[in-house]
Amino acid sequence: MDQHSLVERFLRYVKIDTRSDEDSATHPSTAKQHKLAELLAEELKDLGLTVDYDVEHCYIYGYVGPSEGNTEDDLGFIAHLDTSPAVSGKDVKPYIISAYDGHDDILDPEEFPELKNHIGEDLIRTDGTTLLGADDKAGVAEIMEMLAYFKANPDVSHRGIAVAFTPDEEIGEGTLFFDLNRFHAKQAYTVDGGKFGVLEYECFNAAMATVEIKGRSVHTGSAKGIMINASILATEFINLIPADERPENTEGYEGFYYLDNIRSDCEHARMQFLIRDHDKEKFEGRKEYMLDAAFTINERYGTELCSIRIDDQYPNMKMFLGDHMDLIERAKEAVRQSGGEPTSEPVRGGTDGAILSSRGLPCPNLSTGGYNYHSRYEYASIPEMQKSLEVLIRLAQ
Ligand SMILES: [Zn+2]
Repeated sequence: MDQHSLVERFLRYVKIDTRSDEDSATHPSTAKQHKLAELLAEELKDLGLTVDYDVEHCYIYGYVGPSEGNTEDDLGFIAHLDTSPAVSGKDVKPYIISAYDGHDDILDPEEFPELKNHIGEDLIRTDGTTLLGADDKAGVAEIMEMLAYFKANPDVSHRGIAVAFTPDEEIGEGTLFFDLNRFHAKQAYTVDGGKFGVLEYECFNAAMATVEIKGRSVHTGSAKGIMINASILATEFINLIPADERPENTEGYEGFYYLDNIRSDCEHARMQFLIRDHDKEKFEGRKEYMLDAAFTINERYGTELCSIRIDDQYPNMKMFLGDHMDLIERAKEAVRQSGGEPTSEPVRGGTDGAILSSRGLPCPNLSTGGYNYHSRYEYASIPEMQKSLEVLIRLAQ
């Protein structure tokens, strides 16, 4: 495998600005994501894949049939085109640190202890003014390089390989227009993780609760016994939610309630809470708890002032992997064969794979070798990218 080729490919992709925009109402959220999509469509064709480019929504589906005699099931790989709106992705100037020795203007191990594990490695960072875009162009580059590997090595037998590149993952819309009928595999991996060897196949169950409180506004001078201040009721509501079950007080498998936003005056208050839990039963319990809190407020004031609506957002992927745990086992084995120690971490968030899994495409997440996502300190480890590529090649055989 040609390390130079993977790095060259990655550097080419990160220089294309594909930042998505959460305030946009269009799909894709930014037209510039097409620029990378168009390039990938061309490259996929050159690599011998049939390409189906959903130009309207900026999704690319590619497929190459199995090598002669390979009877394994088709396998899919998915990565996203966009980069986070949190930090600029324009004019990314990637810089390669050869044999990182712990001394660097941007990457300081005192600030980011993980860097101590990368002493001696070649790393890629930016000039510190933009993100790098390893999230997820490392995934894109590794998938493309895997295809290039099979093209260059026709003697290595591979399965039928389906690939998809999607827009707007970073604003939670990566699967909005994902068309399973255009994707040629029944099982897939997203290639959108970080540290090499970490497999992600558990995420939160997620819902959003919208709480509305009606108040009664009158002149403060003559308010006695009449005024109902919606803002005060909102704080009462918040105080009913356990303080030790907030994001800042939880980790690992601990779920939480997160007060995402609040807008209030005397007349009206509106709050949105995110409800998160890996455990389905506890998750449902949390929803009940919020309904009870609204009930308590109404009981206290003897009237229907508080209303609540709870909308499910995404489910824990693990629930849908029941019959497909072989995907996890195979990925672990591939990591070991590529010189790593597989670990799995519960994702404290969601993934596109969670949504796809719930729609019938089981889809755990593989690592790419990138770190410090959504930040000016984002970097990628070249040896870990290389090993991540090896994992893809093994899985596709
Ligand atoms: Zn990502």
